[in-house]
Amino acid sequence: ITLALLSPAAAAQSTLPYRDATLPVERRVQDLLSRMTLQEKVGQMTQIDTARLMGRDEWDRGPLNPEWMKRVLADQHVGSLLSGGGVAPIPNTPSAWAEMTNTLQRFALEHSRLGIPILYGADAVHGHNNVVGAPIFPHNLGLAATFDPSLVESIGVVTANALRATGVTWNFAPDADLGVDPRWGRFYETWGDLPELAAAMVAASVRGQQGDFGPQNVATTLKHFVGYGAPQGGKDRADAIIADADLRSSHLPPFEAGLKAGALSVMVNSGSVNGVPAHASAALLTKLLRQDLGFTGVTISDWEDVKKLQTVHKVAASYRDAVKMALTAGVDVSMVPHDAEGFTSLVLDLVKSGDVPQARIDEAAGRVLAMKFRLGLFERPYVDASGAAAAVGAGRDLAAKAARASITLLANDGVLPLGRSGRRVLIVGERARDPRSQLGGWTIGWQGMPANEDTPSVTVLDGMKATLPKGAALAFSNDVPSAPNADVIVVVVGEPPHAEGDADNPTLGLPSSDVDLLRSAVRSGKKVVAVLLSGRPVVLPDDVRTKLSGLVMAYLPGSEGGRAIADVLYGNTNPSGRLPFTWPSGAARSGAMYSLGFGLSYTTFTESTPTVDKGVLNVTVSNTGKIAGTRTVLAFGRANNRDTLAAFGKVTLAPGETRRVTLPLLAGTPANSEYRTVR
Ligand code: BGC
Repeated sequence: ITLALLSPAAAAQSTLPYRDATLPVERRVQDLLSRMTLQEKVGQMTQIDTARLMGRDEWDRGPLNPEWMKRVLADQHVGSLLSGGGVAPIPNTPSAWAEMTNTLQRFALEHSRLGIPILYGADAVHGHNNVVGAPIFPHNLGLAATFDPSLVESIGVVTANALRATGVTWNFAPDADLGVDPRWGRFYETWGDLPELAAAMVAASVRGQQGDFGPQNVATTLKHFVGYGAPQGGKDRADAIIADADLRSSHLPPFEAGLKAGALSVMVNSGSVNGVPAHASAALLTKLLRQDLGFTGVTISDWEDVKKLQTVHKVAASYRDAVKMALTAGVDVSMVPHDAEGFTSLVLDLVKSGDVPQARIDEAAGRVLAMKFRLGLFERPYVDASGAAAAVGAGRDLAAKAARASITLLANDGVLPLGRSGRRVLIVGERARDPRSQLGGWTIGWQGMPANEDTPSVTVLDGMKATLPKGAALAFSNDVPSAPNADVIVVVVGEPPHAEGDADNPTLGLPSSDVDLLRSAVRSGKKVVAVLLSGRPVVLPDDVRTKLSGLVMAYLPGSEGGRAIADVLYGNTNPSGRLPFTWPSGAARSGAMYSLGFGLSYTTFTESTPTVDKGVLNVTVSNTGKIAGTRTVLAFGRANNRDTLAAFGKVTLAPGETRRVTLPLLAGTPANSEYRTVR
């Protein structure tokens, strides 16, 4: 581009220091801040939802409403937009999203005195789950069962590429909450309850998505800081009671690891910790996050949560008070303030009255600008909409691979793999042909996910048909017929898909229709295998559970889940997933039905007692069975009355093969630990 082609204003800007991509980001930020008005800075601290303010009834009417764009982008100088829960005012196709973000970006740039681009945010929590055509990866809980951070890193690369192709530059992921209570509705978004595993996975996701901030990378968000995963009674957004030592040893490590990997932003816990709403807590957001952990990026509120200090938590007497509290505690960006005008005018007023120092505004706006510079948005504000669909569609085999590695075999009396024990299989249950049950929440659409059956998916039934071995027979029924002509009945059960809100499950029970299905299957006298599509451990009634010949935990395996499940059932894949949490025997968490790390294989392994030398753990693993298999090795260290995951890794062994496995000890493993592997 030559100067002659630019408008006079743009030409004048083009020589200014903040425009110079060769200068350090800090220098560019300082230069740009020095040219901005207070109002322009406050705009950077505001994030507005593209769909919500236009009103639901306008969704189908597109194109974007110019009056709304003028108000938000030109008049309020809003620095970032989002499509919360994937709800957009345009169709959920990759090209429509790319065109939408381009249109908004163009409008913002043309109406910004200094040519400041906007950031576009979305929740891509298992692939680019906001647009149709993207492969949907297993939810985090399933990925955790793979104990394979390299898979998570590759998924991060694919997800970021898909996001960026549609103009989304700020991902509200990865989740870094510790999943301590499976009754909680968002348990499936966590990596289970092993802090060290969650830390490794979060870091891998950040590395994959952010890369070196090239044109195919996005900014990540560690959410929700901190303690969101431990609401009392497993009720979403209830107060979390966490002792300081527990906070530091259990809840912080995933955040620390994500920050160390360079995550550019952190989202605040929507609930409260020990009675204090996180959004109002300087102890958490300034002392702990900034001073102790050294975070220098952007702290963003959760959805409407600044306002909620007044309306829900009731710790602020007025909205003005709420804004003051949040900014003082350390919130930099308000995600979906009640209305852009109301929020920005309150911030301006708080600065003018001296209630919030001007330096706090510079700090917050400066952090947002730094993110824009890091992502190269001043240099590359637009995307090529014609390439969006192809970029978004990539990664289907990776999704299948991840789903295969996640599947955890919990019970098997020899019925599995099916090839050996039964040639005639009856698959039972609507969930076997309902993509929504395997996709789970956060998949095209908000809580109710009205459209997610449009997501191209391989269902369990599809996968079984495609994998059917020669000479085997397969039938489907949505009910258990009275005299099934089958050797084995595979019953596919689970929970209806959920995102948040009413997703809590205080009993850990399956819907009664699913339990009835299992019960009539076991009463038929045939061998029964249950496949669980579920984002949490569920409690099955004893009369059902004890009669099952096989139990397969498939988690929420995503769009390729059916391929993976069929491969495991027919024995093309030897399962190697292990539980990243303890499976309780009852909702009261009385005892363990399956312990942490449990997971069967179609072969058998032995492991030697591990030894530790110079920061590595050595263990000898043998495949003592008759078929090849992958062993996921989990080593714990015990010191000071506490167990920590000390090392983990995978080894694939032929029948009869023995290998010495060398695994790096995880940072933070106490030197005086005694080691054991989970057999
Ligand atoms: C969720 C966040 C999410 C945000 C935006 C909130 O309800 O708690 O995890 O990032 O919505 O969609």
